[in-house]
Amino acid sequence: MSTGSVRWGSVPVGTEVPTGRHWVRFGGELLVWETGPPSSTGREDGLVPAAGLLLVTQVGDAFRQDHPDAVVLLDHGRHLVVEAGSLRGAPDQAHTCWRAETLPEDAVVVDRPRVATRAPTRRDTELLAGLSVASWEQDVRALAAVRTRLSSGAGFMTAATSAAATLEALGFTVRTDPVQVPGGVSATVVADRVGSRTGARRVVLITAHLDSINIAGGPTAVAPGADDNASGAAGILELGRVLVGVTWQHDLRLLLFGGEEQGLFGSRQYVAALPLAERSRIRAVLNLDMIGRRNGPSRGVLLEGGPASAHLVDDLAAAATSVTGLQVSTSLSPFASDHVPFLEAGIPAVLAIEDSDSSNHDIHSDRDVVAHIEPGLALEILRMCLATLLRWLDSRPRPRPAGPVVARAPGRLDVFVVGSDSAMHHQVLKGPAG
Ligand SMILES: [Zn+2]
Repeated sequence: MSTGSVRWGSVPVGTEVPTGRHWVRFGGELLVWETGPPSSTGREDGLVPAAGLLLVTQVGDAFRQDHPDAVVLLDHGRHLVVEAGSLRGAPDQAHTCWRAETLPEDAVVVDRPRVATRAPTRRDTELLAGLSVASWEQDVRALAAVRTRLSSGAGFMTAATSAAATLEALGFTVRTDPVQVPGGVSATVVADRVGSRTGARRVVLITAHLDSINIAGGPTAVAPGADDNASGAAGILELGRVLVGVTWQHDLRLLLFGGEEQGLFGSRQYVAALPLAERSRIRAVLNLDMIGRRNGPSRGVLLEGGPASAHLVDDLAAAATSVTGLQVSTSLSPFASDHVPFLEAGIPAVLAIEDSDSSNHDIHSDRDVVAHIEPGLALEILRMCLATLLRWLDSRPRPRPAGPVVARAPGRLDVFVVGSDSAMHHQVLKGPAG
């Protein structure tokens, strides 16, 4: 790997970093390191030698399973810092369940943002009260009761048909798109609700993958996928239930993808097929993947976006602080879920996922069962989502006059009028002088 050496140490955020050393922040922890000559040894300043540092982003503990001997210097769940010299062979960059890259210098990988709270309005409070943890739980149970929702299998189609029927009964216009996956065909359920605004409307997408997988057991093995991702799919149904009862200015689209576990096939094909005009109409994509399991002492959520969606991350963090007790972590390094294809196409998308999801070692196996689910955590995450969606769907129109505004001046008349395109139009009429 490296011909030099790296000396590193982990310190609390707020510790001053001496010049010449680099840092990376993971929530409340700061990893500090400096590169040195090949012979650099010793443990001065609490720094110890390593051959090179890699930032690993993983789903579950996929990386650790593939590289049990790797020396992990810092474990922040979804993100690890790994001593490069401890990896046998070159890290496989194309692995679908983890990614290894050179550790960035002087960067925040996971933030704990401090955001201002925003008191919910009376309408917000009423709608938030409409979220039912019981109906969410019922949907999770129904989805997890299917033997396996393997993308190309009969169980997946049963789940997709049932979800489509539920959404149609709620009042959505529903269609099902085929999705090509290795060795078969899966599907994506698309449910639409048109906004009330006349003229140009944006569209807000809420997405989750409906498929499940049992990697060790193979295609016919039991794969309840209660957390991954019956929890998120049921979240979409529950948000749909509440949102459909209100008229929104902008369009709402719910998407339940197939083929996620095989490599994001549903979302990739969906984005690839989007006409350019439709892409630019997307105001926000909110992706739910694993929202039902508490992996630490407190309830937390990780909001993962990219540079194109930093503002969406802020909106969700503000809502979490205002209407939940969730501990919020944020990252702008997107990985391995259905928000990624949108971000790659420059569309603002964000993932909401239970915090420390990598401590959940039961995903992708027959152990991802309802018994491990904590409905209270999912309810908190759904409250954060709903409070945010209310704003994204109903951005207030700029205050506008009821009719044209006229300004008189000697010899001219200025007429301002808001057109059906919501833009301000200005016309000058010439009249008799003074
Ligand atoms: Zn998932």
